[in-house]
Amino acid sequence: MERDLEERLLKRLPKSRRKRIKDSRLFEVVEEVFDYPTLMALYDLINKGIIRVMRGVVASGKEARIYWAEDPSGRDLAVKIFLVTTAEFRKSRLKYIEGDPRFKRVGRKIRDLVRTWCSKEFRNLKRAREVGVRVPEPIAFKENVLVMEFIDAGERGVPAPLIKDAPPEDPETAFKVIKSYIAALFLRGDLVHADLSEYNIMNSNGELVIIDWGSAVHGSHPHAYEFLERDVRTIFRYFERLEVDVGDAYEFFKRLVEEKESTLG
Ligand code: ADP
Ligand code: MN
Repeated sequence: MERDLEERLLKRLPKSRRKRIKDSRLFEVVEEVFDYPTLMALYDLINKGIIRVMRGVVASGKEARIYWAEDPSGRDLAVKIFLVTTAEFRKSRLKYIEGDPRFKRVGRKIRDLVRTWCSKEFRNLKRAREVGVRVPEPIAFKENVLVMEFIDAGERGVPAPLIKDAPPEDPETAFKVIKSYIAALFLRGDLVHADLSEYNIMNSNGELVIIDWGSAVHGSHPHAYEFLERDVRTIFRYFERLEVDVGDAYEFFKRLVEEKESTLG
């Protein structure tokens, strides 16, 4: 059935695009949620050969929906589609983008904001990856649609569990790994995740993968240190519950800040 969709889409589009997309399985999979520009963004990614087929929703939140998809070589993809319509989006997210020098010219309209948000998550993923933090590999984005590596735990199309439900088998080592990620991100990547918790770390057969990079901020963001301290405290609290001898969260935070400022001179 999916192969059928691919053939139909590639043959028929882009002539009278809207009607054709309505005919296709792409539309069946995504119809209830998305507006026309979102469908066009998906079509564009299909047309460029990044996505071959959408296979279904794997997670659905207030601001985004995650789909399992496949690329033309059969590789699994995670497609994060940011919802454009909610009023909460604007309220909850504006504070992260304002004050970030990388996003000076943010448009006022929700669609612009969502597009900005999506490209920001893409760039944050790239930067995190560059400094050695294990994240889903970012593959592409278009408008409010982000395409990345699908993280599973062996079963195709099923996301690896979050550490809140599947704590690491070796919590001591996991704690060190996450601390090293926080440090690399802040000191070498000049980035703070800002929503780091057991809800945004997946456990892929023992490998920890940090997700949900939309709210990450640059080190120069006015709230960067505040967010860093909160991330550190959340992580320390989580591992303390797993009976790791975590030490003092504030000390760890302070050392990071001192090291950062010494490199800034
Ligand atoms: P939200 O803003 O809704 O919290 P997340 O980016 O945290 O968005 O994703 C929500 C859920 O979708 C995750 O908890 C996870 O189950 C699934 N998910 C997110 N990214 C991926 C991925 N790259 N591979 C597989 N599943 C993913
Ligand atoms: Mn999340």
